[in-house]
Amino acid sequence: MEISKQIAEYQDEVIELRRDFHRYPELGLEEYRTSETVCSYLEGCGLEVSRLNRTGVVGLMRGDLPGPTLLMRADMDALPIQEENKISYKSVNKGVMHACGHDAHTAMLLVAAKILANMKHRLKGYIKFVFEPNEENVGSLAMIKEGLMENPRVDACLGLHIWTPLQTGQIGITEGPVMAGMEHFKLIVKGRSGHTATPQSAIDPILAAANIIQGVQIIQTREIDALKEPTIIMFGTIQGGTASNVIPDSVTLSGTMRYLFEGDEESQDSPKKRFERVVSNTCAAHRAEYELTFLYGHPTLVNHREMVALVRSVAADELKPEPEIVSFVSLAGEDFSEFAARVPGAFYFLGAGNRAKETDFPHHHPRFNIDEDVLSVGVEMHVRGALSFFNNAGNLQFLKPERFESPTKE
Ligand SMILES: [Zn+2]
Ligand SMILES: [Zn+2]
Repeated sequence: MEISKQIAEYQDEVIELRRDFHRYPELGLEEYRTSETVCSYLEGCGLEVSRLNRTGVVGLMRGDLPGPTLLMRADMDALPIQEENKISYKSVNKGVMHACGHDAHTAMLLVAAKILANMKHRLKGYIKFVFEPNEENVGSLAMIKEGLMENPRVDACLGLHIWTPLQTGQIGITEGPVMAGMEHFKLIVKGRSGHTATPQSAIDPILAAANIIQGVQIIQTREIDALKEPTIIMFGTIQGGTASNVIPDSVTLSGTMRYLFEGDEESQDSPKKRFERVVSNTCAAHRAEYELTFLYGHPTLVNHREMVALVRSVAADELKPEPEIVSFVSLAGEDFSEFAARVPGAFYFLGAGNRAKETDFPHHHPRFNIDEDVLSVGVEMHVRGALSFFNNAGNLQFLKPERFESPTKE
């Protein structure tokens, strides 16, 4: 059957799946119900299903002929947000909501897997359909550590994010850095407590912390070329003290730093090293001490030129109606970067904002919702993107056919 006919045939199914995931959202690494649904759906498509990183699921599809291995990924986790939408499929899990579109990602990739499984006799190679848990806290890395990229070895990766700041009908595809590298940090500034009447006999960590918060802003505004190396350092929490007339012993701060360029983490010019330099020198000036921990993070998501060209030509030449292809990058974090740092990949944005349908709220907002008309577009991009990858494998410079691997069956 023609691809567009199959897409149309599954239009209701993808919406139903998405609404089901939306109604029963689960937080990172607690996606038990979601992964059960995913497992049985993939098994129903005849794929070899395995589990990684507690609630993660991988469906391996073997084409009838050997060839490269493509990784396609959807994320499954929801957020700790109380939904405020008035919709029939509103979240029934109190304080938990799919406010980033991961419900749609899971539904779209499942239906794409079903359609691709229907045509696997035409396929030269393998597809790993990856359903990732805990994306908001770098779930991809744990899957990689558990062997996701091996057996068969992954050669390239494709992924998308539904995006309400873009309009329905738009697709954002860009080469190079597209989503921010990110670090979550915790900083404890240690002083010496005392009476606020005699600050000379204490070391005030509040003043030191205040100067650090201001001081690190020089990184963003005085040290880097803001056009070439966009960087944002934000503090999200600050805690310290017990009484208005007591100098506390310590102040604890936490925050995130994001950057949209490729760089060497170990270089003195990396945002992390610059940050630590300002912290340590400011503390020294205050005679304070500090403890700085980078909790978790991921590199910048960098799109590969050839994979971007492939996705762009699918969107421009094969979709009807033709979408408006826009150049788009974001300082939001996205742990697909862990895949794209290891193999050439493309990650693109599927516009789902539509004011008339009230789906123009930002991601992570209690009223976030998407224009469901774009679900079939996402399915079609997945299906045609995968087919185009295998059809063009002979022209992709980065592919090394001598490295193609056949997975060992257990
Ligand atoms: Zn998110
Ligand atoms: Zn997301």
